Amino acid sequence: MQALTAPEDRAVAEPIEHGAVAVDGPLIVDVGSRDELAARFPQAHVESFGEAVILPGLVNTHTHLELTALRGYLENEESDFFAWLRKLTLARLERMTADDIRVSAMWGACEAVRAGITCVRDASDSAMMSMLALRDVGLRGIVFQESFGPDPRLAQENFAKLKLKVEELRELETDLVRVGVSPHAPYTVCGPQLELIADFAISERRQLMMHAAESQAEEDFLLHGTGLFAESLAKRGIEWTPPRLSTIQYLKQVGILDCEPLLAHCIRVDPADIELLAQTRSRVAHCPKSNAKLGHGRAPLSSFLDASVTVGLGSDSVASNNTCDLIEEARFAFLLARNPSLTASQMLAVAIQDGMLREGHQADLVVVGLDGAHQVPVYDPVTALVFSSSGRDVLLTIIAGREVYRDQRVAGVDERRLRARMNEIAQKL
Ligand SMILES: [Zn+2]
Repeated sequence: MQALTAPEDRAVAEPIEHGAVAVDGPLIVDVGSRDELAARFPQAHVESFGEAVILPGLVNTHTHLELTALRGYLENEESDFFAWLRKLTLARLERMTADDIRVSAMWGACEAVRAGITCVRDASDSAMMSMLALRDVGLRGIVFQESFGPDPRLAQENFAKLKLKVEELRELETDLVRVGVSPHAPYTVCGPQLELIADFAISERRQLMMHAAESQAEEDFLLHGTGLFAESLAKRGIEWTPPRLSTIQYLKQVGILDCEPLLAHCIRVDPADIELLAQTRSRVAHCPKSNAKLGHGRAPLSSFLDASVTVGLGSDSVASNNTCDLIEEARFAFLLARNPSLTASQMLAVAIQDGMLREGHQADLVVVGLDGAHQVPVYDPVTALVFSSSGRDVLLTIIAGREVYRDQRVAGVDERRLRARMNEIAQKL
């Protein structure tokens, strides 16, 4: 068994062969060789996983767990982003009940921990259901309550609704689960509402996530005031004067970049935009599989890393992925980047963010088996992880010292009942 420890210089540190991690309560108390640790903690219960690697938990920086029931539901709309968004919104708002959404989020949370994800950044219209799902599965994360509203005349009203929801959601916060805010996108939330939400995020010290620079349609909307998003507003009698700016420059103008936001996608960015992201300490959730599946193109991962922009990986919802698997996402990101200076170790560091196997840190860790037919022989555990493995090779997931997944079971969750309910929801849809 090998232990991959702290990321150094945006790459993972050298693996420790025959490595081990000592955990006490929610914390890591030591990391080293198995022999060293066995001598230091003679009373400890020791477990061995054979040919496997221990690494910090994977961090999914952009997902929508509530949409898990829509996996495979939108395949025919993929070439038309507007139709895709409309069918998704109708299903979520008009056809799924509150319990359906809770089941959907719960199944998504189970899928995440099964794939070694220990922390999520989840954007949700029904944030309460997502928070309950995270809590019930034992997943760490921030649930970002979404806000919509393209009509400036309703900005105050929509903002007041968001504030009220956040107030209610605070009651559900725990040491592991926090609340953030998410104005959905530049084409679904008007400028005045973006300004109000940005000020709120800063004054309340709430994290903010937003979709940004994702599609050609968004670019046409902001730069020229043309395309389906502009036409849809015109049909609803909503006035729209395009700022004639790139998404990133526009988000600077309306104050979003002042809250060190987490921006999902960032595909349509130029060097000046990337510079602005770096200057404002904005962070990027890179979702290469979702972007490719919807035909939006690919974000310039290497340019972000070169400019020292903080980047994480996101699965986005499984409605556009179709799996929540960050090892697979890391491989896909690496292959798409096609950059000889990018290493597998750096790619893995992007997937684990600031997670560390180090004394005093939270015990969020994952054991991934390395003896599958698709993995043997293993010359190097890091490249074996990134190029030959997937979330299905995860043997154990621990969050804050608690085993949430082991031996094909998510602890304390009736997955049989959830599976039956998921199929029921699919039948209805
Ligand atoms: Zn998204």
